[in-house]
Amino acid sequence: MSAITVTLPDGSPLELPEGASGADAAAAIGPRLAKDALGVKVDGELRDLAAPLPDGAAIAIVTPTSEGDDADDALWLIRHDAAHVMATAVVELWPGTKVSIGPPIADGFYYDFDFPDGERPSEADLERIEAAMRTHIEADEPFERSELPVGEAVERFRDAGEPYKVELIEDLERDQGAETVSLYRNGPFTDLCRGPHSPSTSRIGAFKLNSIAGAYWRGDESRQMLTRIYGTAFHRQADLDRHLEQLERARENDHRRLGPELDLFRFREESPGMPFWLPQGTVLLELIEREVREQLGKRGYREIRTPEVLDEELWHRSGHWDNYRENMYFVEASQREGDQRRFALKPMNCPGACLVFGSERHSYRDLPLRLAEFGKVFRYEREGVLHGLLRVRAFTQDDAHVYCTLEQVPAEVDSICSAIDELYARFGFDEVQVELSTRPEKSVGTDEQWERAEQGLREALERQGREYEVSPGEGTFYGPKIDFHVTDALGRSWQLGTCQLDFQMPERFELAYQGEDNAEHRPVMIHRALLGSMERFAGILIEHHGGRFPAWLAPTQAAILPVSDPHVGYARAVAARLGAAGVRNRVDERAESVGRKIRDAELAKVPLMLVLGEREEADGTVSVRSHADGDLGAMDPDRVPELLEAGRPE
Ligand SMILES: [Zn+2]
Ligand SMILES: [Zn+2]
Repeated sequence: MSAITVTLPDGSPLELPEGASGADAAAAIGPRLAKDALGVKVDGELRDLAAPLPDGAAIAIVTPTSEGDDADDALWLIRHDAAHVMATAVVELWPGTKVSIGPPIADGFYYDFDFPDGERPSEADLERIEAAMRTHIEADEPFERSELPVGEAVERFRDAGEPYKVELIEDLERDQGAETVSLYRNGPFTDLCRGPHSPSTSRIGAFKLNSIAGAYWRGDESRQMLTRIYGTAFHRQADLDRHLEQLERARENDHRRLGPELDLFRFREESPGMPFWLPQGTVLLELIEREVREQLGKRGYREIRTPEVLDEELWHRSGHWDNYRENMYFVEASQREGDQRRFALKPMNCPGACLVFGSERHSYRDLPLRLAEFGKVFRYEREGVLHGLLRVRAFTQDDAHVYCTLEQVPAEVDSICSAIDELYARFGFDEVQVELSTRPEKSVGTDEQWERAEQGLREALERQGREYEVSPGEGTFYGPKIDFHVTDALGRSWQLGTCQLDFQMPERFELAYQGEDNAEHRPVMIHRALLGSMERFAGILIEHHGGRFPAWLAPTQAAILPVSDPHVGYARAVAARLGAAGVRNRVDERAESVGRKIRDAELAKVPLMLVLGEREEADGTVSVRSHADGDLGAMDPDRVPELLEAGRPE
C-alpha cells in the first residue's frame, strides 16, 4: 500500500496510508487527540476530519484546547454544528417551517427560518427549542457529508418544499458554475452546506439560545421577512456562563437604554440616526470637548470652523463624489432667487480645511500648520446599520489637519500619540493598542512617497518605544495610517483615534507653500482625530461606566435635596455657593419625601447627594451621601468641591 506524508505543526513528518483522513492522523498521534479532534486544518484551511488528506500537506488537528486561530476554528465548528442542530429542533417543533441559512458568527450562530403562516416562536419558546436540541446532542448524531449533482439537489429540495435552498443552489450554479453541491445530514435533518462540521452533535459542549429577530431573506428589504434565532456555543459551561454574564452586563450598560434613562439624549423618528442631545448630555459632550481642547492648546493647534453645506463641485474636486456619493446628503438651494447650484452636506471635514489652507499664501515658516475643527459631518447610513450613538448619520469629529513637510511627519505623529495617551488616560483607558496600516493594492502616490511616509510613521512609533501591530495593505488609498484602540470595562475593543498621511488631497487642491529656496512646494497632510466621533465616544463612555460617571465627568455632580419646603431657601443658597465654585448641581424642589428624592438621585447616578434640613440649616452644613460610598456625614458645603475632585485623574 502506498503512503502519504503530512507535516505536523511542530514540523515533524507523519506517514499515513494513502487515503488517510484527519481522523486517521489524529488516531496515529494518540487516542486522546482522536477523541478530542473536531476538525483538521489542511494547509491552513479548516476541513472535516473525515476528508482524505493530500500528500505533502501541513496539517493541524483542531480541538477544544487549540490556541490562537485554531481556537477560533474550534468554536466556529461547534457553533456551525449548533446552528444545524437548532434547525433540526425547529423543524421538528414547527413542521412545515422552511429553512434558509444558518452560519456561525463572531459570538455564536444564527439560523433564519420561514415559519408556516400564523406561527412564529417567541422568546418564551427558546427553552423548548433548547430542550429538543439537547435530545439530538445527547444522541451523538454524526454529521455525514454527501455530494449531489446540482440538478438532483434542486429536485430534492424542491420536493421537500424548501424554496430558499433551491434558490441558493441555482445561484451557486449560475454564479460559480457549481456542478455539485454538498449536503450534511445530522439525525433526521439534511442541509445544503459547504461545511465543515465536527464529527458529531455531542461535540457541542455548552450552548444557549439568546434571542429572536426579523431578518430579510438575503438582507434584501424587498424580499421575504424571515425569523432569525440567535444562539451561542462554547466548549465548556464555564466559558458559556462567563459569556452570558458579559452579555448581561452589556445589556445593563447599553447606552441606548441609559441615554434616555439618564436624560442624556434621545432619538426621534423625525431624524433617524441623528441624536437629540438633552441638557445633561450636552454637558457631557462639552466636558469631553474641554479635554480635547486642552490637548489642542498644549500642542499648537488652532481651531477653525467651516461650513456644513458646500457646493457639489467641491466634492467632485475632493474625490468624494466618485467614492462616497451614496453616503452623502444633498440639498437644493431655495429656488426663490433662481439659484441653480446644488449643495451637499459635508461627510468629511478635510476639503473645508484645505480651502482654509489654500485661501492664503504660506511660507515654510508657517509649517507645520495645525488646523483643528470640531466638525459636524453627515453620512447617509442605511437604516438597518444604525446603532444608537455608535453608528449614526450625523456626528462631530474632533478632527484636525496638519500641513507639514515629510521631514516634519515623525515629530507631528509623536505629538499626536502623546495627546492620545494623555487624553485616553484621562477617561480611564490606560491601555492603548496601536495598529499601523500600510500601502494597499489600490493606491495613489509614488513608491518613494509611500516608503518615506511609512518610515515616518514607524520611526515615530519606535522612537516612543511603542508596541504596534502592522496590518499590511490596510492603509487608505491616499496614505498609510495609524489607528488607536482601547479596551473598555467589558473587555470590548474600540477604535477611537486615527492618524493618516495623505499626499493626494494637497495635490487635488493644489496646496502649496513657499520653500526656503523660494520655490513652490506641496505640503504633506496629516488627517488626525483623537476620539474620532464625539457622539460615539460619549456612547462608549456611557457603556464603559454603566452611566456612573466619575464625579469630574458627571453632568450633574451634586443633587441638593431639601427635606421639606422651609429649607428650599437654604438649598438655593448652597446651590449658588457651589455653582460659584464650579460644582454642577441642581436643587430638587419637588414636594416629595426626602427618601424619594434620594432614590431618584441614586437612579440618576448623581455622584453626591447633599441632604439638608433643620439641623444642617442651623449649623450651615450639608449631610453628604455618595453614590459610590454611602453616607459621609455632615460637613461644610465648601468641602464638596474637593470631594468631587478626589477621583479626577491627573
Ligand atoms: Zn451549514
Ligand atoms: Zn481629513
